[in-house]
Amino acid sequence: LILFPVAWPIALALDNLLGEEMGTVYNKKELEMLMQMHVDDEETPLTIRDQEIFRGMLQLSDHCVKDIMTKLEDCYMIEVDAMLTFDKMLDIYRRGYTRIPVYKGSKDFIVGLLYTKDLIMVDPEDDLPVERVLEFCNRELLSVDARTHLDLMFQQVESGRSHLYFVQNKVSEVDEATEHVAGVIGIVTLEDVIEELIQ
Ligand code: ATP
Ligand code: MG
Repeated sequence: LILFPVAWPIALALDNLLGEEMGTVYNKKELEMLMQMHVDDEETPLTIRDQEIFRGMLQLSDHCVKDIMTKLEDCYMIEVDAMLTFDKMLDIYRRGYTRIPVYKGSKDFIVGLLYTKDLIMVDPEDDLPVERVLEFCNRELLSVDARTHLDLMFQQVESGRSHLYFVQNKVSEVDEATEHVAGVIGIVTLEDVIEELIQ
């Protein structure tokens, strides 16, 4: 009370002169340290899952698409000229994938994306080539650079345009939809990104 007449005008003058206090802004490393301090405390309200998700979120932009993609040699794919015989459709069913990349000639040259639900209309007796189904169900082909950071990739898959992107080694970041994608080195799906996010 005694100092108020002096302290108050000084505080007011300083606020006007220097602006609002900046507060404490931590960088990602510091935030991780802060969480570690909470974790080390026995009374922490954070569960193991909270910690994992928090870490995954902070580290998302440290990784790129190439780190999490499914490599081309591990992809289940189908040739554009392949016939949709009963055996082929049984094989597709047994693999259980929802999206199957369609290639022409070489496996790194993608000309389509076959959704297993597109096969509902196909009669195995008709022996249709995959190409015919692609003409009917034209699915968007999207590609992404292998070096794209996962925070950007997350935004991309979150946009809901496609759940599967073809990974390429090239300069541009995220491509527009094309007729075909050349030089594919793998695929990345929404699940791959979420898995990384929630560890
Ligand atoms: P959904 O869950 O939407 O039905 P899905 O189970 O077929 O689709 P995802 O859940 O997107 O596929 O992906 C699961 C894992 O399988 C991911 O690691 C992804 O890279 C991989 N994957 C997806 N499609 C294929 C495919 N055709 N061949 C090999 N791996 C695939
Ligand atoms: Mg799945």
